[in-house]
Amino acid sequence: MTQITNHMPTEELQRLDAAHHMHPFTTNDDLEKKGARVITRAKGVTLTDSEGNEILDAMAGLWCVNIGYGRDELAEVSSRQMRELPYYNTFFQTTHVPAIALAERLAELTPYDLNHVFFANSGSEANDTNIRIVRTYWQEKGQPEKTVIISRKNAYHGSSVASSALGGMSGMHAQSGMIPDIHHIDQPNWWAEGGDMSPEDFGLERAQQLEKAILELGEHKVAAFIGEPVQGAGGVIIPPSTYWPEIQRICDKYGILLIADEVICGFGRTGNWFGSQTMGIKPDIMTVAKGLSSGYAPISASIVNDKVAAVLGACEFNHGYTYSGHPVACAVALENLRILDEEGIVSHAAQELAPYLKEKFESLGDHPMVGEVKVVGMMGSLALTPDKTTRAKFAADVGTVGFMVRERCFANNLIMRHVGDRMVISPPLVITKAEIDTLIVRARKALDEGYENVKAAGLFKAMS
Ligand SMILES: *Cc1c(COP(=O)(O)O)cnc(C)c1O
Repeated sequence: MTQITNHMPTEELQRLDAAHHMHPFTTNDDLEKKGARVITRAKGVTLTDSEGNEILDAMAGLWCVNIGYGRDELAEVSSRQMRELPYYNTFFQTTHVPAIALAERLAELTPYDLNHVFFANSGSEANDTNIRIVRTYWQEKGQPEKTVIISRKNAYHGSSVASSALGGMSGMHAQSGMIPDIHHIDQPNWWAEGGDMSPEDFGLERAQQLEKAILELGEHKVAAFIGEPVQGAGGVIIPPSTYWPEIQRICDKYGILLIADEVICGFGRTGNWFGSQTMGIKPDIMTVAKGLSSGYAPISASIVNDKVAAVLGACEFNHGYTYSGHPVACAVALENLRILDEEGIVSHAAQELAPYLKEKFESLGDHPMVGEVKVVGMMGSLALTPDKTTRAKFAADVGTVGFMVRERCFANNLIMRHVGDRMVISPPLVITKAEIDTLIVRARKALDEGYENVKAAGLFKAMS
């Protein structure tokens, strides 16, 4: 057996990685030609790779390391919990203190009467759970034909077969197929799809598609609507102000359950503890994951309100995961929430950092290749375009230019992702103003270099 350590030459690690490790959302054969970057350690907002480069992680991992890297308290808590009770399940009338404590804390932190917590290990699993919850809810209410869940195109709700069907990523649907009774309406992405409409009119039109869909499918068939308060993986799409109030009105009018997928928006990302508060949504069910443990342990939850819990509680819910409410993950999440709260990380990010990030990130709007720049709380995105006034797309496959800019970010030690031809950021909530300045300097450099490459490749022209 090979001893694999951080001290091995990078090329050797990359060779072994390409030979044996299949990466998510990656063309794995390409890794043989161009190895993956090997990350060896991290502190605060900074990653270190096997070559000693220090990289500013403006994505907080995968939108999850809200508290920043390297908090010893979380390591301490997990080691203590592993020694005391490394595992026990919560099936068959047993429980343990970490699950009780975390459920109680989540009931307290979440708004409204979201008081009941079902644990899982990932956002995908929690959304699978939600499908079961809403269908079981209507069965128990004597309306078993209410099974359809309405979602949006370009939504992301996870990568399991059911949660990816719930999501609206066509590339994922093409590979795994669909599950029955999921219906997609259009997304509130004004920049890409708003045409000549004002953002407000467009937001209303997109929300009213929900009402049209309910009427077309039949009110007696529709169980729930699911949406991310702000679409994350879809490109940080902040909906027009008219959108969510209209969605809420329609859900209320027809009495369908509203699921807010807070996997990214939760735990301070949008300037409040939950994106539902920022967007004025009153969900019946919330999905949380990612920032719940700041990524230090895999854990997620479906949090349901009193109404849903009352109906569900009357039957045996035939659902659960071996690691639902895993004690170590619960203990880590609880400590993460304690620190986010007691150190004022969420409030500081909202009051001090978010306005600063907004001002600085929006300053990139003067770049010749940048159109719309949007920021909410501690997440933002900018649209790349060859023509700001017409909001044109590039004369290349979607994502070609975004990828070219991302390459320059990587080369300049900045992790900023591209979603198609949008660049997105979602830094740890503990980033400092000086680090935000560094982020912006590197982003501008990457945009400048990307612009040169795009022009050299003859791609700086609008799709005809
Ligand atoms: C990441 C994400 C998920 C899926 O979470 P996993 O832990 O990767 O399964 C679900 N919903 C949203 C909004 C996400 O961003």
